[in-house]
Order: sequence, then C-alpha cells, then structure tokens
Amino acid sequence: MSDYEAVIGLETHIQLNTTTKIFCSCKADSWFDPPNTNICPVCTGLPGVLPVLNQAVVEKAVLLATAMHAEVRPVSYFDRKNYFYPDLPKGYQISQYDQPLGSGGYLDLPVPATSSPDGRPYVRRVTIHKLHIEEDAGKTKNDGRQRFIDFNRCGVPLIEMVTGPDLRSADEAAQYLTRLRQLLRWLGISEADMEKAHLRCDANVSIRPRGADYLNPKTEIKNVNSIEAVREAIQHEIQRQIRAVEAGQRIEAWTLEWDEDNSELRKMRSKETEADYRYFREPDLLPVYVDEQWKWEILKDMPELPLERRQRFLQEYELPEYDAEILTSERNLSDYFEATVRAYAGDPKRVSNWLMNDVLRMLNDRGLTADQLKLTPPFLAEVLRLVDANTINTSTGKSLLGKVEDSGRSPAAIVEQEGLAKVSDDSAIRNVVQAVLDANPKEVESYRAGKVTLIGWFVGQVMKQMRGKADPGMARQILEELLG
Ligand code: ZN
Ligand code: MN
Repeated sequence: MSDYEAVIGLETHIQLNTTTKIFCSCKADSWFDPPNTNICPVCTGLPGVLPVLNQAVVEKAVLLATAMHAEVRPVSYFDRKNYFYPDLPKGYQISQYDQPLGSGGYLDLPVPATSSPDGRPYVRRVTIHKLHIEEDAGKTKNDGRQRFIDFNRCGVPLIEMVTGPDLRSADEAAQYLTRLRQLLRWLGISEADMEKAHLRCDANVSIRPRGADYLNPKTEIKNVNSIEAVREAIQHEIQRQIRAVEAGQRIEAWTLEWDEDNSELRKMRSKETEADYRYFREPDLLPVYVDEQWKWEILKDMPELPLERRQRFLQEYELPEYDAEILTSERNLSDYFEATVRAYAGDPKRVSNWLMNDVLRMLNDRGLTADQLKLTPPFLAEVLRLVDANTINTSTGKSLLGKVEDSGRSPAAIVEQEGLAKVSDDSAIRNVVQAVLDANPKEVESYRAGKVTLIGWFVGQVMKQMRGKADPGMARQILEELLG
C-alpha cells in the first residue's frame, strides 16, 4: 500500500433534459443540429430582452436536490458571473452564487469489495456543499487557423454540484460518477451521457500522507469526457504528484487538461479566483420561490431511489449482491423485475435468473428497454409457471420468450397453437425411440459393445425427432430399457 492517500473532489455540470432552454423558448437539445440554429435574442444576449425562468428547470433541480438529501431553499437568487470569453455573448453567465437552490446534501456510495484496498466492501459518504442552476455557454472550435463559435448551447439549463474533498481514489471518483449518472437517469431529469456533454466533470486532486487530516494544494483536471477518462486522468495525476513530492518539489495549483488521445495531462491557463467574477444579483430575474405546496407537487412523483431499492432487493428478495446491482441498474428493469415477481408469486431468484440471462440478452439484441417489451411481466411469469408445471421443458420455455415478444400473444396460447407441450406419454416416446434404434443399427451395435456414452447421442436423436418436446428423462429411461 502507498504511503500517500488521494484527496479528490468533483465538480459536475449536469444538462437537464428540458424541452426548451432555461430563459427562452429555444430548443434545449441541439446535439444533432447545425451550429447557431437554436438561438434567439434572449440566449445570445441582445440588448433590450428579458429572460423568463423555465419552471421545469426548477422542478428537476428540486427532484435532484431532494434525492441528494440536500435542503431546498424556499427563496433562492440568480446572480451574474461576469467574465469575457468568445462563447459568452452577454459577457456574463446567469448562475446562482451565495443563495443557491440547494444546500448541503450527500450521496452514499457503496464501494464493492473489488474496488476496496483491503478487499472489504464499504460505504463512502460524498458530501456536496451546494446545488445550483445556471445557463450553459456556447462552444468554440479551433481548426488551427480560425476559431468557430456555436451559440446553440447558450442558455441550456445546467445544474452544478461540487462535492467535498471526500473521495480517496480514482476508483471512488469513477464510482461517484457512475452512481450519479444512474440517479439522473432514474429521476428522468438528464440523459447524463458524458460523451454528449450532458454530464461534465472537473476533478480537484491532491495527495497527503495516509491518515493525515490536512489538505495540500490541489490541481484541477478539466476536459474529461467519459467515466473511464476521469479514472485514468486522476490516476495519472496522483502518480505525478507522488513523484513530485518524493523528488522534493512543491505541488502548485495548476489547471490541467486531459489529452485523451495521448493519455497525458497538459498544463492550461492558471485559474481565476472567485473575486475575478464580480458576482452580483441578476436584476432581470425574480427570486426563485419554492413554497411547500409546489415542493409537495414536485416530490409526489419521487420514485424510490436506486440505492434504496438495491438494498431492499437484497433484503426482501434475498438476492445476491450481483443480481441486486444489475436489476437496479435501470429503473425500468427493476420495475419489470418486481412486477414479474408479483405475477409469478414464486422464488424471486428464479425470476432474477431468467431476467439476467434471457431477458437482458433479448433487450440487448433488440435494442429495447424493459418497459417496451411485449413479453410483459405477466407473460414472463406465465412462461415460468408453464416450466414449473412441467407442461413445457426449460429449452422450450426459453425459445417461447422470443415467440411471445415477436407476436405479443400469450405463452399459453402459443404452446397450445404450436403444440409445444411436453410429451410425457410413454407410448408416444417409445415409438420414436424404436424408430431411432431401427434407423441407427451401427450405433446400437457400438453401444451394446460397451460404448455406453452414446446414450447422450441417442437422447439427442429422440429429442430432435420430437422437436424438443419429449421429456428427456423419460426418453433416456426408455432408451436404456430397449438397448439393455
Ligand atoms: Zn433562445
Ligand atoms: Mn458552473
């Protein structure tokens, strides 16, 4: 184990999935649109226009703040953050500064044994100081000779959350982002796709002797656009700082840029301090009032949260950790699981097995989410009961899943119509066995000469003749009897 520990805080910007921008009626998501096609006088800051707050932004922020166990301020304010940059035509960003919408809060990360230094799972509490809403700026692109500016992203609603210096490794930082992404999708407030910049992350990294309680100067890593890249960039930076300290150098408060193509960190400009932004109250907007009545309206649709549901799945259904993790990875999937367990009224682990092996494969192959399946929870439960009752065998059950999905008809109806029910009628099987033996005299001879392993091959032939409907145990018994 290293003599140093890392101290990491993450600053995240989350793009909300509202239809329109935060202060005007331009379309919010322009990922597929040509540059400068979703803009208007408000989001490009022309003189004489006034911003109007989009209510949906506040509602989504209240949901996230509550899910992060933060306090929602009954009155919060917008402020101007002043700076000059070509992608910011107004010369300031409308943000929230000293009285933001949410204050305090935390996310408890269950860190699995596989990511734990001593091989034991633990829970890391990651605190956030505050949660605020703000508008996004535009985007600049450089081709080496000229700089191009796209204002489409100006005024796109963002939530900014900054964690305390609570994370202790690159792995924990990656875990935090994974859990945050899960939560955002679960609440349905952001697509949270890092590759599309719906979720952006800067990382503050410092090191200190293991067990120390003071903070050393930190560096800030920018421009990381996948969870894997965050993990890799932080790992690089921790190693760089350890090497520097061991060589007797001081760590300076650099801003670093992650170069994904070359897996290296490059030094950027030095950072502005808060005072450089000349924050003051936004005079064109009213304070944001979130009274108890409105808060109640928003929170009445609050779902059970992913980590709580994961915990409940462990206890209530006695599922292994692995199953509970996968089944709660998406809200749809966990709803589907529970609905199937209710409809089936049998062993939840059996439902989990079918879901994780067969239904998940179907979802991947067909590019569907669980709520889009024609193989509904009652239909999946019906398939399981048909197998339990020995009406069909397991492999027929599995092939039935695709047939239900293709047709939308009930499993029992398909079994009936296609004659899939298992044949456990002795004489029917006996006839087929006799026919197989008659057709394969050489194999019968080998078997009788001592090559008894051929029995599996004979069973296979009988199953093939009967299109998988024979009870294989019974077929084997009859084969052994007639061959013996
Ligand atoms: Zn606009
Ligand atoms: Mn920000």
